Amino acid sequence: MVAAGLVVGTAGNVSARAGELFAITPSGLDYAVLTAADVGLHDLDGTAVDAPLAPSSELPLHLAVYAATDAGAIVHTHSPAATAVSLLVDEVPPVHYYVAMFGGAIPVAPYHPFGTPELGAAAASALAGSRGALLANHGAVTVGANVAEALELAVVLEWLCDVYLRAAAAGTPRVLSPEALEQAAAALAAYQAARPRRA
Ligand SMILES: [Zn+2]
Repeated sequence: MVAAGLVVGTAGNVSARAGELFAITPSGLDYAVLTAADVGLHDLDGTAVDAPLAPSSELPLHLAVYAATDAGAIVHTHSPAATAVSLLVDEVPPVHYYVAMFGGAIPVAPYHPFGTPELGAAAASALAGSRGALLANHGAVTVGANVAEALELAVVLEWLCDVYLRAAAAGTPRVLSPEALEQAAAALAAYQAARPRRA
């Protein structure tokens, strides 16, 4: 996340679920000094099972998303283009076929203060039908089967938002039709299935 420019300082947080437990990054610890031993384990109602440090302040968001979706991992950032777009629109329009990776136009959850159950509920609702969402005037959140997938989607979402901002600064972006998105979704699924995987 740091290398990809998705976070500055201690912003953002990551979690991964396995069975009835999930691991989540701690609150306020610089990524440069974060080690696996600092990452706490919690059960799915948020109770600490093995957590040496206080969990991310967005614990309620992670709990709400796991309760509402089959996500295996969640990545939350304040990446600059995604955060900028979260100030402007109620959804990221389908300006590029990559939106098909998320299931179509990307929703923007309404603003609520950080760390609140209300923000968690809004994010969970937005992610019920999408693998990514923006949080209005706040940032971005993506989900995947695992951390690698959620992180890849966070990078793609930031790229999409950057492209949208550049286009919207110069004119009115053209959007793709539902038919074009359906085609893209099918082609992307075939492309993903054919990707080389390291064991
Ligand atoms: Zn945040």
